[in-house]
Amino acid sequence: MKTTRTEEFVTTDIAIIGAGPVGLFAVFEAGLLKMRCHLIDALPQVGGQLSEIYPQKPIYDIPGFPSITAQALIDGLMEQIEPFKPGFSLGERVDRLQQTSDKRFIIHTNEGTTIQAKVVVIAGGLGCFEPRKPEISGLDLFEGKGVNYMVKNPELYRGRKVVLSGGGDSALDWTLFLATIAERVTLVHRGETFRGHPDSAEKVFQLARQGTIDLLLQSQITSLGGNGHLQTVTVTDKQKNASVLEADYLIPLFGLTPKLGPIANWGLGIDNSALLVNVHDYSTNVDGIYAIGDINTYPGKLKLILCGFHEGALMAQSAFKHVYPDQKPSFKYTTVNGVNAF
Ligand SMILES: Cc1cc2nc3c(=O)[nH]c(=O)nc-3n(C[C@H](O)[C@H](O)[C@H](O)COP(=O)(O)OP(=O)(O)OC[C@H]3O[C@@H](n4cnc5c(N)ncnc54)[C@H](O)[C@@H]3O)c2cc1C
Repeated sequence: MKTTRTEEFVTTDIAIIGAGPVGLFAVFEAGLLKMRCHLIDALPQVGGQLSEIYPQKPIYDIPGFPSITAQALIDGLMEQIEPFKPGFSLGERVDRLQQTSDKRFIIHTNEGTTIQAKVVVIAGGLGCFEPRKPEISGLDLFEGKGVNYMVKNPELYRGRKVVLSGGGDSALDWTLFLATIAERVTLVHRGETFRGHPDSAEKVFQLARQGTIDLLLQSQITSLGGNGHLQTVTVTDKQKNASVLEADYLIPLFGLTPKLGPIANWGLGIDNSALLVNVHDYSTNVDGIYAIGDINTYPGKLKLILCGFHEGALMAQSAFKHVYPDQKPSFKYTTVNGVNAF
């Protein structure tokens, strides 16, 4: 079957929830067996924990790579699966899963995308990363109406007045980037120094000294104002002096916490916030739904990337029977069969 995508409707063989390393490699294993995949991830980029939490850290236990940075591994996986032309819905959280009378699955995301698939593979890691929200009165009223917890599309901020808050790498990196396209950027931070990379912090201090951005240290955002859309941000400093800034957007960047989220409500066997699977093929208690990588559990489970890769290979052999019920998967080495693209 071909993966097709219209405005909001995707049809594919395998819908993979989670584009972390394990979900990505599953595309390769499925592709070798001529099954097409569509990946959905709540984050705006692929790579799961590796790209979100530790992109520049070296990993030492990937077979064949004595040392590889997390981001380089993700880049390599993307190159490896490219021949199989996977589809992607990024920045979309899977909220609902239904099964049709002919045993297909329909997945619904929070952005209105619908994906129909014969097999669902949950490679959701620790679950959805949800933003840590600061305590600001009226914050929820402006969510999606000027308050964004992730930068999904930087172009949104071109020529606009943007306030960022936070003291880590994301706050520093986005301040530096948005300073090049926004009308005005203000960074508000509770502390005097930053937790993020010293190089980035120095660049931010330099932009503030040059007057390119406004840097408000030892300050917190205390309230928001606007009529249907954010218009003002009130910042209060250590001495309790409040000032009102004009703002089209506020981007609070206080990190992300993982939550199993909607997956917990799909009738799947769960133990300690992880999905119970059969170790023969990493299937769940629902026929046609598999769980691989950090999200599953079984006796002896190790939350390691290489274990997730192995799980993906066995899952693909088993998933084949749902996609091609009249055929048997033929096991062939890639050295013999090559990688036959779609
Ligand atoms: C600091 C650190 C260092 C590490 N070092 C190593 C190491 O050296 N070696 C090693 O093997 N492992 C290491 N790990 C562990 C490794 O990162 C994980 O085992 C690996 O990320 C698991 O991959 P995954 O694809 O299963 O899940 P993840 O990488 O967690 O990706 C899951 C993805 O699913 C998405 N998702 C979840 N629910 C939904 C939903 N409902 N809708 C849409 N998207 C959803 C999430 O947004 C996420 O992007 C480390 C982890 C950390 C935090």
